[in-house]
Amino acid sequence: MAKTLRLILGDQLNINHSWFSIKDESVTYVIMEIRTETDYVRHHIQKVVGFFAAMRNFGEKLKTQGHKLIYLKLNDLENLQDFEKNCNFLIEKLNIEHFEYQLADEYRVDENLKKLCHNLKISSKAYDSEHFYGTREELANFFHGKKTYIMENFYRYMRKKHDVLMSNNEPETGIWNYDSSNRKKITSNHRISEPYLFENDLNEIYSEIKNSGIQTLGTIDENNFLWPIDRNQSLELLNHFVSECLTFFGTFQDAMTPNSWSIYHSRLSFSLNLKLISPAEVIEKVIAHYRENQQIIGFNQVEGFVRQIIGWREYMRGIYWAKMPEFSQLNYFEHHEKLPDWFWSGETNLACLKHSIKQSLEFSYAHHIQRLMVTGNFALLTGIDPDELDLWYLGIYIDAIEWVEITNTRGMSQFADGGIVGTKPYVSSASYIDKMSDYCKNCYYDKTKKIGDKACPFNSLYWNFYDKHENKLAKNPRISMMYSVWRKMDAKVKADIINQANTYLQTINSL
Ligand code: FAD
Ligand code: SF4
Repeated sequence: MAKTLRLILGDQLNINHSWFSIKDESVTYVIMEIRTETDYVRHHIQKVVGFFAAMRNFGEKLKTQGHKLIYLKLNDLENLQDFEKNCNFLIEKLNIEHFEYQLADEYRVDENLKKLCHNLKISSKAYDSEHFYGTREELANFFHGKKTYIMENFYRYMRKKHDVLMSNNEPETGIWNYDSSNRKKITSNHRISEPYLFENDLNEIYSEIKNSGIQTLGTIDENNFLWPIDRNQSLELLNHFVSECLTFFGTFQDAMTPNSWSIYHSRLSFSLNLKLISPAEVIEKVIAHYRENQQIIGFNQVEGFVRQIIGWREYMRGIYWAKMPEFSQLNYFEHHEKLPDWFWSGETNLACLKHSIKQSLEFSYAHHIQRLMVTGNFALLTGIDPDELDLWYLGIYIDAIEWVEITNTRGMSQFADGGIVGTKPYVSSASYIDKMSDYCKNCYYDKTKKIGDKACPFNSLYWNFYDKHENKLAKNPRISMMYSVWRKMDAKVKADIINQANTYLQTINSL
């Protein structure tokens, strides 16, 4: 075989990739910690430390398996801090005759690598990352010629195609969707189990990052880094999830409480997105555990989880490749407001936002409903520019990689795509937040009031949003009922609500 250089990206830590099944003296692998990746957005410190730790462990694993590897650390003198520059340098230095890489998940990096190969004087080849259930194009092909991209249809197709929880090509219980059983609030006597945390000593990596001057956000306990940083730890977290969390996963998947930062969520997104574990092995483990424990685990728990991975995760990836790069510019409501300053500190009187933001800064994590119905909901109601919001979500969460961040933020949460991902905007007043959480009972604001002193801002902002975007939303059949409620309201009450909302919008930084 020609002397080959193979590039491994920081989110391609899949030791089961077919590349690694053969040891080949003519192949040199390269992994690099580079500034273009640390600096394209201000990341949470736990995200940068976690990525580098996992990359270094993966590098060690490759070496122990006998593969030839060049690992460029952040502060190495030979590191030119850019994929193309480093690859060109190594190709020259090692007399490389052929270059290979795995398809990137991010559009930006994908374009970069295509350009790199185009400029090379040697041959090159791209491989599949062998991680996802589907191909990049599968969703676009599935919806070809259709007007809408309904997730439920894609999810059913994936369940059938991969024979997951199916019997004779039908859902094994006769029911596809258990969402209606999965909307319970945590009751006061329910004790949530503690999250399973690691205690990785990452002091050395942390110091290297700090000394290099990379700008980060959030806090870290670098001596007890809590996230999994290799495949074994990822599998440990998966084991913990099935034995301790699966029983209640579905039931409480939409619940929120200030008493727990992850409730029964798996916290597997970081391991999955770095490809330390595969979606298929996660699904297989979860279903096998369910089959052995059917007397205590309900089908709704398992279906709820399978839907997230085989449904939402694969769906978002497909939307990304079907709609990029245009997707990153979409701004259906023409929102251009700035994020309030307290999104970077959590210092606000709104209890739901305070908890969701503070825990994001502390753990680089918030679960789905906090992202969607607290921070996302507030941003949409207050008209925040999706560009600003994307940078916030992309920076703050340990699992944030553009293909899954932007589709969730611009698409699902902000409806900036005008209805590609969602059929209606995810907005709510205090009543939904109160229904699904116990945030409101200790809040400075009054969840029951729309107007007046200490009225919950969500209440007036909610109606103000509908009023402002009537021309874009009133014809949507899923919202028409809200418009008939709004139209029937007393004119004076409506004016007071709009006034209250405008006051909040003008004083947003001091809410
Ligand atoms: P669990 O609740 O345990 O779910 C299991 C797995 O299902 C997750 O690990 C994840 O891989 C997958 N999953 C669940 N929901 C989704 C979804 N909507 N889209 C794709 N996969 C999903 N997820 C990311 O991985 N990276 C992001 O940058 C990201 N940004 C988001 C931004 C917003 C505004 C919203 C509303 C959601 C975002 N999500 C993102 C989706 C989801 O919130 C996270 O995947 C989830 O909270 C991760 O925590 P978990 O592993 O405990 O998930
Ligand atoms: Fe959030 Fe309003 Fe409830 Fe306070 S009262 S926690 S601001 S929804």
